[in-house]
Amino acid sequence: MKAAVYRGGGRLVAEDWPIPAIGAGEILLRLKGCGLCGSDIAKIVDPATRGPAVLGHEVVGEVTALGAGVTGYALGDRVVAAHHVPCGSCHFCRRGSESMCAAFRTSHLDPGGFAEYVRVPAPNVLHATFRVPPHVGDEAASFVEPLGCCLRAVRRARVEPGDTAVVVGLGSIGCLFVQLLRRAGAAVVGCDPLADRAGLATKLGAAVAGPPDAARRAQHELTGGRGADLVVVTGGGAEVLPWAAGTLRDGGSIHYFAGGGGDALPLRLDALYHRELTITATYSSSPADLTDAFRLIVAGAIDVGRLFTHRVPLERLDSGVDLMRRREALKVYVTP
Ligand SMILES: [Zn+2]
Ligand SMILES: [Zn+2]
Repeated sequence: MKAAVYRGGGRLVAEDWPIPAIGAGEILLRLKGCGLCGSDIAKIVDPATRGPAVLGHEVVGEVTALGAGVTGYALGDRVVAAHHVPCGSCHFCRRGSESMCAAFRTSHLDPGGFAEYVRVPAPNVLHATFRVPPHVGDEAASFVEPLGCCLRAVRRARVEPGDTAVVVGLGSIGCLFVQLLRRAGAAVVGCDPLADRAGLATKLGAAVAGPPDAARRAQHELTGGRGADLVVVTGGGAEVLPWAAGTLRDGGSIHYFAGGGGDALPLRLDALYHRELTITATYSSSPADLTDAFRLIVAGAIDVGRLFTHRVPLERLDSGVDLMRRREALKVYVTP
């Protein structure tokens, strides 16, 4: 089969890759498509990423083979399958840290979503595979994973009705946060220097959106000068933290949902302590979050239709990576 293979050097090359063989309890999917995630791009550009590797984890595909004992799925079913699945019973899982579970970190789709076929391991089939109803398109279905990650972040950040929340970075993830925070009852201020992204965020429910200065002024007016209850950082790296701390009310919290851009926290400990600020972080989701995300997408409760802006075939995945890196594409959907 064809796959886009990472072999270092910041590039992906279309190559032949063996079709995975499935065992008991497993499913083979023929990919309809796979979303290109910011975390894929972070791995592609990181010289420390080990190759050869097939990335991609926001998959939607059709069941083409069923292992012994698989029930509940039939050949031809269109499904979304999770990349990682926790064990559900270890200390981390019982404390809500499913993405820190050893099983979570070692389980994955084989080889990855940027391929024609993937093997879905048995625990993933059992706990986090969803049959997509006909009215939900392939691209919308591929948003179950990113939306699940954002849902988990919103839960961890403990937003309350009446809060004012600032979302930094209005890419596809930021636009999902805008909608989820709005649903949670917060007034949302979007922050992004790109005017078209700010415009989209207001269509999706942000009270105001604009570049950092405008976002800070808007937040100031909305809260009567008190400061935002929550700042969600979806991009920009560590240098955003002092800005976020200056935008927060005393006792407010920052939720960090972005890799890269500096490896230390440029935040005064004195401010953290005397202003009682809280910093939380999440990077992934649990099967429960994915289940909720799937329900929201099936119900049409979250607008994802405006978020995928580009489609590229596997052979030209590199061009999709460039579009996202230049911030020209909100979301790229990759088809085999
Ligand atoms: Zn993702
Ligand atoms: Zn576990």
